[in-house]
Amino acid sequence: MSFIDLRSDTVTRPTDEMKKASYDAELGDDVYGEDPTVNKLEEKAAEILGKEAALFVTSGTQGNQIAVLTHCQPGNEILLEEEAHLFYYEGAAISAFAGVQPRTLRGNRGAMDPKMVESAIRGDDIHLPETGLICLENTHNRAGGAIVPLENMIDIFEVASKHSIPLHLDGARLFNAAVALNQPVTEFTKFTTTVQVCLSKGLGAPVGSILAGSKEFIHRARKWRKRLGGGLRQVGVIAAPGYIALTKMVDRLGEDHQNAKRLEIGLRNIPVFSIVNTVDTNIVLVDVQTLGITSAQFIEDIKKHGILAVPFGPTMVRFTTHYDVTTQQVDNAISTLASLYKR
Ligand SMILES: *Cc1c(COP(=O)(O)O)cnc(C)c1O
Repeated sequence: MSFIDLRSDTVTRPTDEMKKASYDAELGDDVYGEDPTVNKLEEKAAEILGKEAALFVTSGTQGNQIAVLTHCQPGNEILLEEEAHLFYYEGAAISAFAGVQPRTLRGNRGAMDPKMVESAIRGDDIHLPETGLICLENTHNRAGGAIVPLENMIDIFEVASKHSIPLHLDGARLFNAAVALNQPVTEFTKFTTTVQVCLSKGLGAPVGSILAGSKEFIHRARKWRKRLGGGLRQVGVIAAPGYIALTKMVDRLGEDHQNAKRLEIGLRNIPVFSIVNTVDTNIVLVDVQTLGITSAQFIEDIKKHGILAVPFGPTMVRFTTHYDVTTQQVDNAISTLASLYKR
């Protein structure tokens, strides 16, 4: 059976152009700084993200972890939204590796209240941990691909700057936010100290993320990447597709957003489903509680009919649109689900 794979935008496979770029890539040893393809990707990424320098890392998780390791000291506290990927999905790596303590704040569609952020910053007291970092996420995955408003980012960046605390943006899907708001990505990144963006999600690269910041920061981050075993050799073979992802795949993200909207509208017509999120980008969250089954059971059931999704809570299901899902497939998924669940 061929599946309509709405599990994640990570399932996209590289385009033919990416595979060809990989084949043709000029290579060298990147640990010696001698892989021209990686150097070209890092320079381009820094330029696009409006930062002095960038580092190609193996994954979004690695990029985020290197950011925390580079910004913080063991015993620091970091402030982040309570469902942030860095807190929720990274296996407590911030505690396991960086030795920092997370302090989570409840957000509204992924956006923390700047006043709450400010009052959570620790003062100078022998009993207290020092606040080492503030993390934001845009778009916010668990909030259903919600766009954290620019004004909110600006307010939190001002709080961070006032207290001389760095601000890291987990921008795994930052390009989705930029495209949806029709803004250059630098409109977001200029209110951050560092940023991580994924090349392997909606942009379609097979592997990799970018971490960007000041030259001095990236110099230290490079050492942390090496310590973590992320110093790779002729890595141009995977950086070459990443370059195409970054330079040619951004604008088409709008198609994914249109498909997500189409899916949302289709599912709204099926009364047993309740749509949980406002669909800003490429994610639709559906609560299936009315069916009296768990999300796991629901996912097993629809898989038998060729549709793949992921659980997002006991009765919550996530559908994600991406490069490898066509509008026709979205329509097919809607009609299959309608015939299965229309009462
Ligand atoms: C996917 C994702 C990551 C991690 O990226 P990986 O490449 O899967 O490690 C980090 N943050 C957010 C918001 C994500 O959606």
